[in-house]
Amino acid sequence: MRNYPGELGNLLGVNCSAIACQLRGTAVSFPRDHKVTMDKREFLKTSGVFLAGAMLSPLGSGEQPGAQRTNWSGNYTYSTDRLHQPQTMEEVQQVVKRCSKVRVLGSRHSFNGIADSTENQISLAHLNQIVLNRESSTVSVGGGVTYSQLAPYLDGKGYALHNLASLPQITVAGAIATATHGSGNKNGNLATAVSGLELVTADGEVLVLSRDRDPDRFPGAAVNLGSLGVVTKVTLDVQPTFQVAQVVYENLGMDQLERHLEEIFTGGYSVSLFTDWQNHRIGQVWVKRRVQPGSTPHFDPELFGAKLATRKLHPLPGHSAESCTEQLGIPGPWYERLPHFRINFTPSSGAELQSEYLIPREKGYQAILAVEQLRDQVTPHLFISELRTVEADQLWMSTAYQRPTMAIHFTWKPEWPAVKNVLPMIEQKLAPFDARPHWGKLFAMSASRIKPLYPEISKYQGFVAHYDPQGKFRNLFMETNIYGA
Ligand SMILES: Cc1cc2nc3c(=O)[nH]c(=O)nc-3n(C[C@H](O)[C@H](O)[C@H](O)COP(=O)(O)OP(=O)(O)OC[C@H]3O[C@@H](n4cnc5c(N)ncnc54)[C@H](O)[C@@H]3O)c2cc1C
Repeated sequence: MRNYPGELGNLLGVNCSAIACQLRGTAVSFPRDHKVTMDKREFLKTSGVFLAGAMLSPLGSGEQPGAQRTNWSGNYTYSTDRLHQPQTMEEVQQVVKRCSKVRVLGSRHSFNGIADSTENQISLAHLNQIVLNRESSTVSVGGGVTYSQLAPYLDGKGYALHNLASLPQITVAGAIATATHGSGNKNGNLATAVSGLELVTADGEVLVLSRDRDPDRFPGAAVNLGSLGVVTKVTLDVQPTFQVAQVVYENLGMDQLERHLEEIFTGGYSVSLFTDWQNHRIGQVWVKRRVQPGSTPHFDPELFGAKLATRKLHPLPGHSAESCTEQLGIPGPWYERLPHFRINFTPSSGAELQSEYLIPREKGYQAILAVEQLRDQVTPHLFISELRTVEADQLWMSTAYQRPTMAIHFTWKPEWPAVKNVLPMIEQKLAPFDARPHWGKLFAMSASRIKPLYPEISKYQGFVAHYDPQGKFRNLFMETNIYGA
């Protein structure tokens, strides 16, 4: 585990305290109180059903909240040892009322201080209900539910979500808070599936917001950056379950992107390109296609000169593909193909850092060329970069707000001193493209550069201030990046 002293004032990817915190549990156990109407709805408490999975994996959020005081990758140590783990909605309300400063902790997969607090964190791992409503084609999940818990349950009931991130181990509430996304020209980020939210706001009262009934406020609530209140329930759109087949092509010349970028990204329901920025080439193209029931998926042996892989591959060279979802065109359930990584395995590398910048898709090729100019600075510290697309949306603080988007992602080696020097160079190259940094990853931009990228930021600030006038949920990350200069 590392702490990186905060020598770069604004680089909030890293916390400035070098305190090795020890957990001092503050939670008390209370009897559970889940009163859920079961008529015409299907209900699951995830803890029992997924206990086996949780025991296999050190990654799910539900099993040992707060057992570590760092984030998942270990690059960030939280600034408080006070973690509340309420068992019921009422306990959440009591904690919020009691605390003058508090922040919710999801599954700890963000790389920066967005989930941090100097005083109190709350884990909602015990709020793990899943309620399927077939009539409205929605599912409501408690604030601690992860996609690893939700997806197999939904599939078992004949339903699917529209998309997933590269890993399923993150919480739904934490993912939507930061505009977490997968890939696909027509796929909005994960927050675009949200149709309703239940929150405990700063006064301890319950606020319910609906996409249909609250069109003026809802766009500020789904991508909330953890600052509107404690999200205790999220309602998501679901659709009939579907199958996906995934293949990987190797060695695509980067020149092909100049003329065929659109064709390549529309060649699948979800497409990801992996590059180390060397030799003007894309090392791997992952194509995920929806498969009609009963049909055999067809994939051409070549994609603009790239060759169809005949063995399973990991996006990070040298890593075993065992942790990756099935490839080679073998169809399977949506949730076992849309993420790159399998549920009970370590996603990506583990010991790593991540950054990502989201730019208007129509400028994608120029932006790729701009980053490529930095290959000699970037590649030595990089595991791999990934290029994805995201559909535009109307969520005020979404990184895809009103822009069909291309995402340029960097999985870094855990070499912070070097990475922190490279980030400003990348940001300078991407500045002409109005690059928005991923809220849950590492970046160096100041608030003065971030704020103009979000035309509705004042509305968001006003919305948050209305429900949290004293700044109970405001932390250093928010002070610096949303309210700072
Ligand atoms: C290996 C790896 C792969 C990744 N892949 C992707 C990817 O494919 N696409 C992508 O876009 N991102 C990706 N990420 C980033 C990740 O999806 C985001 O950082 C996400 O926000 C993490 O969710 P979490 O549950 O861990 O939340 P945390 O990191 O714990 O918290 C994130 C934010 O959500 C808030 N929050 C959490 N729960 C609640 C709640 N109940 N109420 C209110 N606020 C809440 C927190 O306060 C904080 O502000 C990846 C990260 C890792 C480590």
